[in-house]
Amino acid sequence: MARETKSTCPYCGVGCGVVIESDGDQITGVRGDPDHPANFGRLCSKGSTLHLTASAPITHQARLLHPMRRAHRGERPTRVSWDEAMGVAVETFVRTIREHGPDAVGFYLSGQLLTEDYYVFNKLAKGLIGTNNVDTNSRLCMSSAVAGYKMTLGADAPPNCYEDIDHAQCIFIAGSNTAWAHPVLFRRIEDAKAANPSLKIICCDPRRTETAGIADLYLPIQPGTDVMLLHGMLHVMLWEGWVNYAYIAAHTTGFDELKNTVRECTPDLVAQTCGIRKEDLFKATAMFATSATTLSLYCQGLNQSSSGAAKNAALINLHLATAQIGKPGAGPFSLTGQPNAMGGREVGGMANLLSAHRDLADPAHRAEVAALWGVPTVPDKPGKTAVEMFQAAADGQIKALWIACTNPAQSMPDQATVRRALERAEFVVVQEAFATTATCEFADLLLPATTWGEKTGTVTNSERRVSRVRPAIAKPGGTRHDWAIAAEFGHRLEKKLRPGLATLFPYSLADEELGAQAVWNEHRESTRGRDLDITGMSYALLDDTPLQWPMRAGESQGKARLYEDGVFPTDDGKARFANVAYRPLAEVRESRYPFSLNTGRLRDQWHGMSRTGTIGRLFGHVAEPSVQMHPQDLLRLRLADGDLVQVTSKRGSIVVPVQASGEVALSQAFIAMHWGPEFLGGCSSTGQRLAGVNALTTSAYCPSSKQPELKHAAVKIIKA
Ligand code: SF4
Repeated sequence: MARETKSTCPYCGVGCGVVIESDGDQITGVRGDPDHPANFGRLCSKGSTLHLTASAPITHQARLLHPMRRAHRGERPTRVSWDEAMGVAVETFVRTIREHGPDAVGFYLSGQLLTEDYYVFNKLAKGLIGTNNVDTNSRLCMSSAVAGYKMTLGADAPPNCYEDIDHAQCIFIAGSNTAWAHPVLFRRIEDAKAANPSLKIICCDPRRTETAGIADLYLPIQPGTDVMLLHGMLHVMLWEGWVNYAYIAAHTTGFDELKNTVRECTPDLVAQTCGIRKEDLFKATAMFATSATTLSLYCQGLNQSSSGAAKNAALINLHLATAQIGKPGAGPFSLTGQPNAMGGREVGGMANLLSAHRDLADPAHRAEVAALWGVPTVPDKPGKTAVEMFQAAADGQIKALWIACTNPAQSMPDQATVRRALERAEFVVVQEAFATTATCEFADLLLPATTWGEKTGTVTNSERRVSRVRPAIAKPGGTRHDWAIAAEFGHRLEKKLRPGLATLFPYSLADEELGAQAVWNEHRESTRGRDLDITGMSYALLDDTPLQWPMRAGESQGKARLYEDGVFPTDDGKARFANVAYRPLAEVRESRYPFSLNTGRLRDQWHGMSRTGTIGRLFGHVAEPSVQMHPQDLLRLRLADGDLVQVTSKRGSIVVPVQASGEVALSQAFIAMHWGPEFLGGCSSTGQRLAGVNALTTSAYCPSSKQPELKHAAVKIIKA
């Protein structure tokens, strides 16, 4: 019977509402939800083809529908029952924990999991097993934004809402190709520009992307020089008297120290380091500082960097110095890459976090979470973050890995190390909706999970808005919801690790809608009194409309904008200027590796293409992988469009067609992140077979956020 179900798009952090049309067990259509405040009915090319990705025959063929076990690596996996699969997983984890301790296991999760999924995994690792080795591909996405917010504003809370785009007089877009990565939000920027032609837009990016096309001022900075640019802007603000000393005195600390640092960042030095004209530095600074309201939008260009936290903090410094925060149309607004990187942070689903924005390093926070969960303690030893976790597995320290809803054998940097880790680990569980990802090849045990259109739960988008995700069709085959798989494993494991005690996972597995709600209710209780307090929300209220946090008990709606009162969640209520230093890239280009390689998204593809790659129409925009280079670099290397070239970094090499592009500056190159081993083969410096552009990228990471520098590797490019 035909029916319609409201849910949320699973692709990006805009978090658009969708209406799914279904008939029996078939998803037949999708359209934008006109009532959803993130998109008011709009969808981009990816969102509007969701139903095709769900119904394509190739999608069904690619699905993992039953538990599978591989008796020996390299063999084809064979189907097993859930009972056998769980038994093997429990037996292996118990043996590993007893022989090597709880830190010998690790969980690697995903910003595409729902909040409920994340919550149960986090409790399973930190509450039951006693390890903080829980990290996620959100480490590759938003951890620098988290570190930047905490360092300056005191909490991981994006202060803005999408409506601020309509109120801004200046929009500073830094390290974000919003037009492709967050298309529906970009339509809103275009609308704001059309409605208010005096709106000034600045775009700062080494690539002249489609987003730069809308800008009044484009700053083509050299890769990795953002902190120098942002410090230079503060230098000019000080010189011109554009800082707001009254706001600084009333609401901040640490400005004098920062002043000393930015004094060195003269316009000459900034122009030389960043590769921009001095007059453009002055123009950008004037637009930012003198507009009535300035909104910054930023994403992976700032985050995926060995200076990621410093870049984020240096940008927030500008907002604090000019009082461009806490009012409509103003503030530093990080755009979330994945659909639920926010929800994962909320439940503490990372190696250094605990539930409800609590810090692992804080003994009081650990005690609060232990009390909430009913366990004696939460371990204090920091867990391994993404890069550290795979390095530890490659070194033999982590012996059992549980990977859920993500494909590190394609998406992690420095693929040679990741693949060594997956080969060396004694037991690899991959919990997935699709059987075709590169990581599945390494699994000893494959556990089939539900996916979009089948799942129930919640996600949180970039503007702190919690939306329901609802099932339009029944779970196919033997698939289970991600949280339910983790809870079932937890039930069986706790019988071995803490026999006779009450379960830590009291969620109904028979009625999974009720079970998911019970998980969410427990998460909700954990937020009471915290900055992200959602005790005023319920599944029933979220069924009516998506809501923004915080929304405390008794409140009828969430908070659209934070810090309007000038009070920040720090000990003294004041924001802190971050006195961060400019540091060069982890790997600067040099004579042997003379090109800067940048990686990123295409408009019509998503991650490793397990979903978007199943329909032909999404290849209409870009049909095949290529390395884009400046036309003059092609001439210099005697290359023609379409020639095969070998792109080599210190870690590996891939062969790919070259394409001349006006978007890419001289001595730079760009390769989209989406194509995996079947399209973009390569090898490591020792001859190991590798996959995709991450054969080349570096795992060097930011010391504060531990986010790797996926946006830059030094490479050489020669004709293949
Ligand atoms: Fe989905 Fe993002 Fe497109 Fe919205 S903008 S439809 S959330 S991919």
